[in-house]
Amino acid sequence: MRLDKFICKSTELTKAESLQCIHEGEVCVNDIVMTDEATQVHENNHIVLNGIELKPRPFRYILMHKPANTVCSNIDEAYPSLFNFLDFDKKSELHIAGRLDADTTGLVLITDDGRWSFNITQPTNNCCKVYRVGLSKPWSKLLSDEVTLKFKQGIPLQGESALTLPAHLEMITSTEALLTITQGKFHQVKRMFAAVGNRVVSLHREQIGDVCLDVDIGQWRYLTKQEVESFS
Ligand code: URA
Repeated sequence: MRLDKFICKSTELTKAESLQCIHEGEVCVNDIVMTDEATQVHENNHIVLNGIELKPRPFRYILMHKPANTVCSNIDEAYPSLFNFLDFDKKSELHIAGRLDADTTGLVLITDDGRWSFNITQPTNNCCKVYRVGLSKPWSKLLSDEVTLKFKQGIPLQGESALTLPAHLEMITSTEALLTITQGKFHQVKRMFAAVGNRVVSLHREQIGDVCLDVDIGQWRYLTKQEVESFS
């Protein structure tokens, strides 16, 4: 990683402050003063700022219960950003592993570890996401069975050439279902139900991989080591 990024990640300094320290000769890499912010460094290098050795800050892994009418981006849009609920520094380095629509509620995983979130979002990794879906039209048992089979086989979504990957549908009542998918295409769940003639009126993500939502709405917690490793 670049030296300025390393300083930024391992201290409370902003990017501008990190650059200033580097340009003013306050940073040594393996006992040599480095004034070029683009110098590539590794966490095993001995990096010292004003006599203090820097260690990379560990990645953060957070589970959060997203309320409705919030957005999964780092800035407020039509609705406030979900990140407003998190009260710690360097929030701009965090991102969401699998965004939800503004009106969708439930489990989001937030991190600053890009490789880790790739394991969750990349469809080839088969990471299951479970959604509780409310539907506008009640379905008979016969119709539900037909749709369950279609979802298992994959369905065409409007504007896409490839079929969706196999999904598991379990009807709870005639208008409520649990849907398990491994992809995360734009509005995927809503588009899947639209493709079979129904409309999603409520959507809530309950589970990602083995991690289940277990905090109240608007609350968050750090993932356990075991939970983090379950996606590695
Ligand atoms: N599918 C959707 O349609 N919306 C979401 O928020 C998540 C999955």
